Amino acid sequence: MKIRYCWRCRMEVPMLDKEESEIASKLYAEGFQEFKRSKKVPLKENFTKLLDYYNELTGFGETEPNAILHHIIDLYGPDCENCGKPYRTNEVTFCPKCGNKRQF
Ligand SMILES: [Zn+2]
Ligand SMILES: [Zn+2]
Repeated sequence: MKIRYCWRCRMEVPMLDKEESEIASKLYAEGFQEFKRSKKVPLKENFTKLLDYYNELTGFGETEPNAILHHIIDLYGPDCENCGKPYRTNEVTFCPKCGNKRQF
């Protein structure tokens, strides 16, 4: 887990590393299976396990299961050499924040 800036949330959030994100995706898939089985339960409650896992790991208090799925370190590029914000993807050549040209 690592605190990084999220472009979608416009704030710093705890992002999951590879191992943690694999567990999170598994719990997310389980949540969907749960939902298919018992259609009465509101969708969010089916993802309690995922939210608990994330919140215990990060102490963040996330309530939106979908947000966790984009808080994964591997989805973004490395940190900008100039301002420290992560590149939006691993392919971009410019930092959207400060315009720094990426060093490859
Ligand atoms: Zn986010
Ligand atoms: Zn930058």
